[in-house]
Amino acid sequence: MDLEISQEVKDIQARAKAFVEEVAIPAEDKYDYARGRMPEDLVQDLRKEAKKRGLWTAHLPKSEGGLGLDLVGTALFFSELGRSPIAPYLCNCDAPDEGNMHLLHLAASEEQKEKYYRPLVEGKIRSAFAMTEPPPGAGSDPTSLATNAVKDGDHYVINGRKWYCTGANGAAFLIVMAKVNDSFRRTTMFLVPTDAKGYTMVQEIDVLGSHGPGGHCELNFDNVRVHESQILGKVAEGFRLSQERLGPARLTHCMRWIGLSRRSMEIAREYAIGRHLFGGKLADQQGIQWMFAEAGLKIESGYLLTLKAADLLRKGQDARQAISLAKWQVSETLNHCVDLAIQVCGSHGYSRYMKLELFYRDARAARIADGPTETHKMVIGRNLVTGKFGF
Ligand SMILES: Cc1cc2nc3c(=O)[nH]c(=O)nc-3n(C[C@H](O)[C@H](O)[C@H](O)COP(=O)(O)OP(=O)(O)OC[C@H]3O[C@@H](n4cnc5c(N)ncnc54)[C@H](O)[C@@H]3O)c2cc1C
Repeated sequence: MDLEISQEVKDIQARAKAFVEEVAIPAEDKYDYARGRMPEDLVQDLRKEAKKRGLWTAHLPKSEGGLGLDLVGTALFFSELGRSPIAPYLCNCDAPDEGNMHLLHLAASEEQKEKYYRPLVEGKIRSAFAMTEPPPGAGSDPTSLATNAVKDGDHYVINGRKWYCTGANGAAFLIVMAKVNDSFRRTTMFLVPTDAKGYTMVQEIDVLGSHGPGGHCELNFDNVRVHESQILGKVAEGFRLSQERLGPARLTHCMRWIGLSRRSMEIAREYAIGRHLFGGKLADQQGIQWMFAEAGLKIESGYLLTLKAADLLRKGQDARQAISLAKWQVSETLNHCVDLAIQVCGSHGYSRYMKLELFYRDARAARIADGPTETHKMVIGRNLVTGKFGF
């Protein structure tokens, strides 16, 4: 693994760090707890600031308006940005748009790029990715996919129900996974504009954590007709493309979560140094130092697993096992670190003053979304038992 960091990447990292400290973290105080998101006017102003500082869509190639970082460079950049949960969206690098941009860049036709990709990159529109379905449809097990598209001349007619689709409320379009003519082997991705007849955003589902722009939504497709030119890639390429999207998207989540794990422990450190009890600083207690040691081990190993997977992906090598290991480890690390940080900060950590309670509620989704811990364990274990991947 070659982890030599160029001066250019170090400079970008430093700019991301400054943006988080000077712009994103102070703005977190304006978080609207009643609505579970940041005020939209403020977000638009701060997005202008991100553009001014050259941090917009940094994950894209330079030819597409990004900073041309490879995946290891992206890992370093995102782990700085992830220290504030609002910073990735301010820089137009947050889920689901970031993963959707990556997918459209790879697979969209020129016409689709003009209509969906470029406005997404410019931040003029938002998007959502619609895979998960209520039982008995697809969740952890994609083979249960129920949404179906039936060919009718040069159109497809989509019927089905999706839920927990992040960002769908107010999105301009969706990337919808559906079987074709009831054949799972022909699963395909369709670009569906949200003004399509028969499409309904049923509800923004009330969740434990923050909703972010567009929430987490339940969607209904009732005879939604889309022209065949709205297929992303080709018929039957749905699962291949979803792997192209999910691999890097899972990793970029890990990168952001490393940042938030570090920030949580930095908040805890500040409290532990400033709090005096039993004749000394809280930070002098060995029990507290061991909590920091535990967090340090988990963060460092999660970071290295993430970098290893990023390095494999940038070399075009099989990164599936490394991505599953990173996703499992880092999502658990985030939950562990935020929990430890609240414990170190005592009652104040449990309040809204320190932001840790918000991080705590948001962190819980990390162990479920993009494949729950248990499905990653299943895949990792199966690969090791069958010898597909070594130790
Ligand atoms: C905040 C958030 C945002 C999301 N955003 C999106 C989105 O934008 N688009 C989208 O399509 N989906 C999205 N999802 C859905 C997410 O991808 C699914 O929740 C995930 O794939 C799991 O599916 P499920 O919720 O249906 O759980 P189920 O498949 O019903 O599984 C339930 C539980 O069973 C356990 N389990 C699963 N497999 C195994 C196994 N092999 N062995 C033992 N136990 C197992 C796990 O603990 C799992 O949590 C989001 C979810 C959340 C929470």
